[in-house]
Amino acid sequence: MASVTFNHVVKKFGDVIAVNDLSFTIDDKEFLVLVGPSGCGKTTALRSLAGLEEITSGEIMIGDQVVNDIPPKDRDIAMVFQSYALYPHMTVFENMAFGLKLRKMPKEEIQRRVDEAAQILDIQMLLNRKPRELSGGQRQRVAVGRAIVREPKVFLFDEPLSNLDAKLRVQTRKEITKLHKRLKTTFIYVTHDQVEAMTMGTRIAVINHGVLQQVDTPQNLYDKPANQFVAGFMGSPAMNFFQAKLEKSGGKLFVATDTFKLEIPKDKVKTYEAYDGKKVVFGIRPEDIYNPEYSSSGIQAAEVECKVDLLELMGDEIYVYLMSGDHDLVARVDPRSRYELGENVKMAFDMSKMHIFDAENHPDNP
Ligand code: ATP
Repeated sequence: MASVTFNHVVKKFGDVIAVNDLSFTIDDKEFLVLVGPSGCGKTTALRSLAGLEEITSGEIMIGDQVVNDIPPKDRDIAMVFQSYALYPHMTVFENMAFGLKLRKMPKEEIQRRVDEAAQILDIQMLLNRKPRELSGGQRQRVAVGRAIVREPKVFLFDEPLSNLDAKLRVQTRKEITKLHKRLKTTFIYVTHDQVEAMTMGTRIAVINHGVLQQVDTPQNLYDKPANQFVAGFMGSPAMNFFQAKLEKSGGKLFVATDTFKLEIPKDKVKTYEAYDGKKVVFGIRPEDIYNPEYSSSGIQAAEVECKVDLLELMGDEIYVYLMSGDHDLVARVDPRSRYELGENVKMAFDMSKMHIFDAENHPDNP
């Protein structure tokens, strides 16, 4: 069993709390992505699991064994670093075999494991080269190969794609996902890139300021973010947020900003009526705002007066930056629609997709 459990894990560096009371379980054979902004504590959490950092308090378990006092080499974990950390004077074969030799593994077994990993990664023809004779993508494969030959219970990846160009990143992303399916082992993958997180993870753990915000499937994180931080972090362009207030009148519930007032859909009233009269943050994703002239009916939409401020033509869609009073917002719309800079337009918000966040109890809210 190679599940991994963080149990109230805290890691401090002097006054800096890098990991703050982290508790969650990564299931056996799962592909879990740890995501969050730079400095949020992802790498520290991963290094603590690998045994490269001693935790300040709490407990880390692999399977049902507490590993706090077990040295890194005995944790049965292999880590792939952002820098790859290959030995420059060794060939690819020697780089991959090195850890096995240290363990005094028989030669034939080393040969078998390196050959098998090389075949999985399609690097057989590179085994006699030195790292300087490899491209960035090939070095990255060798770094993964070095992890595979150890046949560990858990693989850890720390931003392994950040040194690759955009095209190679997409390709390698797919390869690592396939590798997970093939090896059927627990993968824990750290990234600050939300696209990588969404496309690779079976579940994603979002961290901010060392604190776990939400762990869920990619789709649930996107559709049902637990708080404003998660909502704003997942998705590009980011979700639009407005300071607002909830108001009841005539048996209906409205969300009101200083420039617009929209009815909350009937099926959501029960969820939000406790916030009546309170300050909230209203959220709507750019793809849930559209020009009613260009759209089919059947969506429960509310119209908001806006002025077109900037257009970004992406090819397959347009990002329309708008002003509603003093509020900026962005809509992702069909490339066939036409907008003029400075034009006044009525945009429709699909209220079935709106989000309401608690403005008073959330540390990221002003
Ligand atoms: P990035 O995506 O930039 O790598 P991260 O989310 O992996 O960031 P960590 O590297 O885990 O973040 O750092 C978390 C916090 O702990 C940061 O404030 C960082 O400055 C601090 N930190 C990390 N390592 C040390 C260290 N060895 N000594 C002191 N502070 C550290």
